[in-house]
Amino acid sequence: MSFFETPTGDVTLKAKVVIVGSGPGGTFTALTLAEAGIDVVLLEEGHPYRNVPLDMGVAVGRMYAEGGFRTTEGDPPLPVAGGKALGGSTIVNSALCFRTPPERVEEWNQESGGAFSDTAAFHALQADIETLLRVAETPDALLSGNDLAHREAARALGWREGNLRRNTPTCVGCGRCNQGCTTGGKNSMDRELLPRAAAAGARIVVGCRVEHLATGRVEGTVVDEQGEALGHLRVDADTIVLSAGSIGTPRLLLDSGLVDREGPVGGGLRVQPVVSVLGYFPDRPIFRPGSTQGHFSDQHADDDIIFEANPTFGSQFAAMPFYGASMHEHAGNGGHWTSTGALIRDRPSARVLPTSQGKARIVYESSEEDHRRLLKGLRLGASLWLEGIRAKHVVLGLFGSSLCRTMDEVDAKLAGLPLGRMVLYSSHPQASCGMGRATSPDGEVLGLPGVVVADASVLPSNVGRNPQISVMTVSRIVAERLAVRLGGTVRPLLPETVDQPG
Ligand SMILES: Cc1cc2nc3c(=O)[nH]c(=O)nc-3n(C[C@H](O)[C@H](O)[C@H](O)COP(=O)(O)OP(=O)(O)OC[C@H]3O[C@@H](n4cnc5c(N)ncnc54)[C@H](O)[C@@H]3O)c2cc1C
Ligand code: SF4
Repeated sequence: MSFFETPTGDVTLKAKVVIVGSGPGGTFTALTLAEAGIDVVLLEEGHPYRNVPLDMGVAVGRMYAEGGFRTTEGDPPLPVAGGKALGGSTIVNSALCFRTPPERVEEWNQESGGAFSDTAAFHALQADIETLLRVAETPDALLSGNDLAHREAARALGWREGNLRRNTPTCVGCGRCNQGCTTGGKNSMDRELLPRAAAAGARIVVGCRVEHLATGRVEGTVVDEQGEALGHLRVDADTIVLSAGSIGTPRLLLDSGLVDREGPVGGGLRVQPVVSVLGYFPDRPIFRPGSTQGHFSDQHADDDIIFEANPTFGSQFAAMPFYGASMHEHAGNGGHWTSTGALIRDRPSARVLPTSQGKARIVYESSEEDHRRLLKGLRLGASLWLEGIRAKHVVLGLFGSSLCRTMDEVDAKLAGLPLGRMVLYSSHPQASCGMGRATSPDGEVLGLPGVVVADASVLPSNVGRNPQISVMTVSRIVAERLAVRLGGTVRPLLPETVDQPG
């Protein structure tokens, strides 16, 4: 029997708590509340993807918010990727796992008004979550050709580096995590934790797009996989938990007219932009299949820049700016390229606005400080390939010509470079309903008793690393506090039978 319901017409339900969204935030909340004995319904707009569509266009079109075309307003437009599926963005994420840096937990405690004063408990919980997800370092055998080149280059420059930790216990290294895992190798939320929540009594209903929030109820539309309406949705509940992600949660609050559009909800959004640099090695084959992303360097983390070997599956090179004969040469030599991404921990840079014409509105403006970091990320990425392992040339992630053979050419290209020339990407929106600004330390939206946020949006600020483990940790803390307020008894996260990793 399935652990979720797929309605084909109207849905009318009642529960003590209704949760909107089934990513890490919604999953940890449903699990915690259901195991505490609380009557919970979880609604997810997307559908289940145990059998992932193999066609990349279909996979992205169905499993990503707005078919993969969710983008900011501003110069440059910045894609903000997010999953739309049972399991949320974990269905399409690269499964990289970072713990929250200790200094960030201290900051968050200050910013939130004391929500994380027991820092030891925070870190212990995070260790339990990693055990639960069976997180482990990517073994060398699963490093892709790009990961191996990334490692060689980082070591040649003397950078601090390592293999990435991932929640992929049975990964076979096909490299297509961002289009959904076809082998079940990735421990996304739909594999173990949502079924466990359902076993504890949570009702999980897919194809339910929530469009309006009111005191004690949510309403919307029941939709099929293509988004076609099948019926009306209404769930009455004493408490509403918003886990629709850092774009979806403020959107719902704003669209429902429950909060001021100039206020803290939707403001303070951080997008953690990534800018990429490719290296070209005509005399050296680079490509070998492996994990989607297996290697990183945090050598420049003190300046809030992290380098991660980029995914090299499929058509990612199509996005790079080559023209004419140069395009012909490069496209024909796809296996001779490397790619790194500089991930920037940005300052508050963006705002979510009410929905317009069915689409999210996200306004992005980089600060001077972030602009400087992005330029530095491009320069260091170029140095990785040119000075680390002597690429013939590099291509900077810029609109227009950006091919450079030497660091002098790189410096000439970067001098005075406006932000609008950069090809940026984001898949880590965070902090758009930040604790301490938009919510209480318990995650309750200020001025809206009974409406709680548990997802990436409630982080007080951004992690500066890939955030899923942090989102799970903070959501678990919010959910435990809610369970206690509702009279439940919180159960341990780790069943006694789970093996501790060696
Ligand atoms: C391509 C990609 C790669 C990533 N790689 C990594 C990585 O390797 N490591 C890492 O740590 N992080 C990664 N992330 C980020 C990480 O997955 C997210 O930070 C995390 O999943 C956020 O959890 P969440 O619960 O806030 O929201 P999400 O996981 O985004 O889930 C929100 C869910 O809510 C649903 N929803 C939204 N609005 C509504 C509505 N109105 N009604 C009903 N349902 C709704 C959505 O369909 C979605 O399923 C990646 C993200 C993406 C998109
Ligand atoms: S690399 Fe392939 S097998 Fe491994 S977790 Fe990702 S999609 Fe699954």
